Amino acid sequence: MARYTGPVCRLCRREGQRLYLKGARCYTDKCGISKRAYAPGMHGQGRKKLSEYGLQLREKQKARRYYGVLEAQFEKYFEMASRKKGMTGENLLSILETRLDNVVFRLGFGSSRPEARQLVMHGHFTVNGKKVDIPSYLVKVGDVIAVREKSRTSDKMKAVLEMTEGRVVPKWLDVNRETMEGKVIAAPQRDDIDLPIEEHLIVELYSK
Ligand code: SF4
Repeated sequence: MARYTGPVCRLCRREGQRLYLKGARCYTDKCGISKRAYAPGMHGQGRKKLSEYGLQLREKQKARRYYGVLEAQFEKYFEMASRKKGMTGENLLSILETRLDNVVFRLGFGSSRPEARQLVMHGHFTVNGKKVDIPSYLVKVGDVIAVREKSRTSDKMKAVLEMTEGRVVPKWLDVNRETMEGKVIAAPQRDDIDLPIEEHLIVELYSK
């Protein structure tokens, strides 16, 4: 499955904000943004004001990078969102939120989205009792996401749970950290999504 494999702190520096792609490190002063708060590359420190198109493009790239989605897949999500009832931008974010890797992250079973994605790909989770190792799998209301029985006692899962202790789980999800299970109790609404994304700019970009 295709994914970005380059240096991730560079992505945050390009967007000018923390995208939280490295788990615990993102909350320390080792964070790449703390150390170098300017865009990467030769001209990173001499950027000019962005055009309208530039702003729209950056917003789309930021959303893609938050969720770790490549361009072609992102376009597919946009098409799905535009076919649904309601506001396309909000539908888009709602679809992205229901990706299994994001849900695992939101439930606190991954310290970052990239880590959650890797844990999913390594087969550590079930959905409604069946192993699912596809990070882009879209969960539905009523689905139960659980750490696989044989993974529950692993050192990796223990370390992840320690790292995510105290994480606030959004209200569209319910989690039981003891049994390592979570349930989708509602579809995510815009208010539930705490990411600083101006989705209307993405809609404007694709409407050109
Ligand atoms: Fe982004 Fe985390 Fe790297 Fe900071 S440490 S730049 S938030 S990936």
